Amino acid sequence: MARALRVLVAGGGIGGLAAATLLRRSGHEVILFERAPALREEGAGLQLSANALRVIERLGVLEALAPRANVPQHAFLRSFRDGAAMVAVPLGARGERRWGAPYWQVGRRPVLAVLADAALSSGVDVRTGQGLASLENAPDGVELTLDDGVQVQGDLLIGADGLHSAVRAALFADAAKPVFHNEIAARVLVPGVLYPAPPVSRDAHVFVGPGAHAVAYWVDDALNLVLVSRGQSVPAGRPLDPTAVCAPFDGWCEPVQAILEPLRRGSAPVPLAWPMCDLPPLRTWTQGRATLLGDAAHAMLPYMAQGAAQALEDAAVLEKCLRAEADPARALARYDRQRRPRATMVQGLARRNARAFHVDLGAARGLVHGAAALARPLVSPAATRSLDAVYGWKLPTP
Ligand SMILES: Cc1cc2nc3c(=O)[nH]c(=O)nc-3n(C[C@H](O)[C@H](O)[C@H](O)COP(=O)(O)OP(=O)(O)OC[C@H]3O[C@@H](n4cnc5c(N)ncnc54)[C@H](O)[C@@H]3O)c2cc1C
Repeated sequence: MARALRVLVAGGGIGGLAAATLLRRSGHEVILFERAPALREEGAGLQLSANALRVIERLGVLEALAPRANVPQHAFLRSFRDGAAMVAVPLGARGERRWGAPYWQVGRRPVLAVLADAALSSGVDVRTGQGLASLENAPDGVELTLDDGVQVQGDLLIGADGLHSAVRAALFADAAKPVFHNEIAARVLVPGVLYPAPPVSRDAHVFVGPGAHAVAYWVDDALNLVLVSRGQSVPAGRPLDPTAVCAPFDGWCEPVQAILEPLRRGSAPVPLAWPMCDLPPLRTWTQGRATLLGDAAHAMLPYMAQGAAQALEDAAVLEKCLRAEADPARALARYDRQRRPRATMVQGLARRNARAFHVDLGAARGLVHGAAALARPLVSPAATRSLDAVYGWKLPTP
């Protein structure tokens, strides 16, 4: 291994925790600064495709998470008119054979809890309630100033501080800013007991129609809903009026009405807003001894269900580059070269789905969503190949 470094990580989300754990295990001293008072994620679901699960396995937490995972047998893309499946993608054992690892649907809270445990038990120095305010990036190291004015020196900095990254702003003053796509996702986990009977099977379902789409899948005993429609920007996490959230789906098919019933009745938890933003591809993620990872580097629309998966891939590649390359700045440059083209490709697929999801159904039949790409005869071989390239990823040799 190259010499042990003092690595500073800003951000304790999925990306920051995964990177911190892998780097600590390869012998570096790692300090992780998380601005929030505790490591946690909001209650919602997460789909983890085979590429993500390869890194989860590398982190040694596959078995801890497995009891919480729902393994869908199919992903369905459905018409808003009658709920009929326009496309069905085999997941389950068939997906596992094709992509070499399973496809899981799991709660974000257990994912973050398991990653936090892994970081702490590996010896990562996790400091919550401490945000990065500014940084100095010198040829031989970095110096952070935290929100309370305390300064911390390190050999390397990893900015895993999310969509509105302070590290990105400090490194690249002229970097593109996040773009809001005039769509809001309302997210809610509806306890299954609120339904008289399960309104959908334990598969992945995406109902698409004009100006809106509804994603539904089971996480433990709750139905995870992501209801996306046009809207003005609101702060992430703001509670939404359930009636207003359901309105764009008026007149949609019976299964969608059944899914929404607890929201309409007022018995479901209050849905929370998530503005649909992404980051235009950056020219570089790295400057000397500092680099970006996860949403800070490549925030993408969630329409490929790949943001967390790409953050996990980043973490694995970064660790491998630092193992292979003695000079830290060269290792970061190598990481940047390996990761940026791939993350940019996936960002592009997610944008393409954004255009396809809310148009009329004729156009929607050409979707390149995870739910669509394997179906025949609706989907082109190019679309199939693009999904294979995403889910079939393996850790490259640096
Ligand atoms: C509706 C929706 C559905 C999604 N579904 C999926 C899916 O099914 N599958 C998938 O793979 N991805 C999905 N994603 C994307 C995924 O959630 C994100 O890409 C992923 O969580 C990003 O992780 P991260 O660690 O890079 O960033 P974040 O999770 O944003 O973590 C950043 C952390 O940094 C902290 N922080 C911020 N600023 C500072 C600072 N200055 N100093 C210190 N700490 C700081 C924050 O508090 C936060 O904890 C979805 C996203 C949305 C919006």
